[in-house]
Amino acid sequence: MRCSCLILAAALCFGAAPARADGPLPAPEAASGWTPKTAVQAREFMVAAAHPLAVETGRDVIRRGGSAADAAIAMQLVLGLVEPQSSGLGGGAFVLYWDAAAGQVKSLDGRETAPMEADGRLFLDADGQPLAFLDAVIGGRSVGVPGTPKLLAELHRRWGRLPWAELFAPAIRLAREGFPVSPRLAGAIAALGDGGSHRDGFGNDAARELFLHADGMPLRAGERLVNPAYADTLATLAAEGVGPFYQGPIAEDIVRTVGSHAANPGRMSTGDLAAYTVRERVPVCAPYRQWRVCGMGPPSSGGVTLLQMLGILERLPPPPAGQPPALAALHRFAEAGRLAYADRERYLADPDYALVPVEGLLDPDYLEVRAGLFDAQRSLGRAAAGSPPGAPSRGEARAAELPSTSHLVIVDRDGNAVSMTTTIENGFGSRLLVRGFLLNNELTDFAFAPTGADGQPVANRVEPGKRPRSSMAPTLVFGPDGRLLLALGSPGGSSIINYVAKTLLAVLDDHLDLQAAIDRPNFGSRNGPTELEAGTALTAEADALRALGHELRILELNSGVQAIRRAAVGGWIGAADARREGRAGGE
Ligand code: GLU
Repeated sequence: MRCSCLILAAALCFGAAPARADGPLPAPEAASGWTPKTAVQAREFMVAAAHPLAVETGRDVIRRGGSAADAAIAMQLVLGLVEPQSSGLGGGAFVLYWDAAAGQVKSLDGRETAPMEADGRLFLDADGQPLAFLDAVIGGRSVGVPGTPKLLAELHRRWGRLPWAELFAPAIRLAREGFPVSPRLAGAIAALGDGGSHRDGFGNDAARELFLHADGMPLRAGERLVNPAYADTLATLAAEGVGPFYQGPIAEDIVRTVGSHAANPGRMSTGDLAAYTVRERVPVCAPYRQWRVCGMGPPSSGGVTLLQMLGILERLPPPPAGQPPALAALHRFAEAGRLAYADRERYLADPDYALVPVEGLLDPDYLEVRAGLFDAQRSLGRAAAGSPPGAPSRGEARAAELPSTSHLVIVDRDGNAVSMTTTIENGFGSRLLVRGFLLNNELTDFAFAPTGADGQPVANRVEPGKRPRSSMAPTLVFGPDGRLLLALGSPGGSSIINYVAKTLLAVLDDHLDLQAAIDRPNFGSRNGPTELEAGTALTAEADALRALGHELRILELNSGVQAIRRAAVGGWIGAADARREGRAGGE
């Protein structure tokens, strides 16, 4: 550590920047309805996830000598049971892994793929018009070939220490014995039936039977949910590996379920499942001030867009004299977001199908040009994409994204870290349940229209075998000494990038403690209106922002950040977003 951080004994020392007790933004506060949380500190290891049972599981695995990868596997299997609306075997995930001994960051892409029979017409109606989002989601059409099971197997193959089958035991036991439905899960089940019968909210009888009572009423918070079908699936994978998921009876059930939805069948084949492969990708890393920030590269936009935002912010001139600091901070962050999201919309897609100019997008000279578009006194409104070095010609696209998803972070006894964002896309994915797990609707992360208004093909159009663009942003930050400093990520659809950027800046630049950084009200622009989290002190800035030309939306911005940072006094600090049910725990 290079400074004597006596000021904040329990906090991290980040280098030479002067410590501030708080940033220029309104102090973090609990918006109505949150239960405040406190960060936890531990010497040896730390885990954090969206559900306490997943945290307990991860902690036990490491206690028994397991690695960060082992913990991630066991935690994912439990999350698929207790937070089934957000992630699971039927979905996809990205992992950023820090190998402490090798001093290397690795990234694994377990994103879902489009079936070979899918093409640019997948989400167009008979008149060639894009479908309404929910018409596309419910049923088999939106289901991509799941990547999560093979990703877990790959994590174990590379970095696992405990026997594979042992990692399945906690989830199998919980699935058979049952667990209490959490308020969030109960709320999500009830919300699916909004405006109609609860039965209509789900896509097949198996899902209705799991989440509804026989009279059609949703399970309530505190009621016990048992999922024997999930336990059986897990027992098969524990004994035989993930092979049976991709070839054989489980694969056949997935294909049958996807193809037999009456209103909205999909065209996945057993060959699509058999062909699925996890890809190792080059992580995207760039400096931000004295730190090095690493994220997930394409097909996620998470890493590149986050790094563009940071790169632009770093290059902005100081705020004009007299501009109140809170207003300046909001304006700068929103404008940097606008510029980065404009490029994301045009260029980010599956790199196996589209030339994504990653280097060009992060080129210091290019970021300088983008930062030069910033006007301290006026919002850009809607920013246009730039022309980074190496850019192909692309149509403008917009893909609809709505939040579910989960983020988990782990640092084990050896200092290895997993930062993993995992998803079935929308809440309850496609609403189809097979053998105790929900199938994703990840294909709706593709642009629905294959060409832009200019007639040019869009980078993120549907193509056979392709992976839909993601916003998931598992992130690792390293200090000037090269040591891991911070691991974080969030659910939240395309707002993920803003949530991660806000938290990271609150820790690095404003020296907030980890919980306060996560709890800081959410805000930013995805190159549309500037969004402010409802029920927070940020809304006091509304008039001043409007005077700078911002069109505003004040709304619920439901991040679910889980984060771990190195503690100045040794060991780790873990924290979970007070907006959701997560928790951190260590030893
Ligand atoms: N499907 C989204 C993505 O991959 C994540 C959805 C969410 O966070 O709710 O970017």
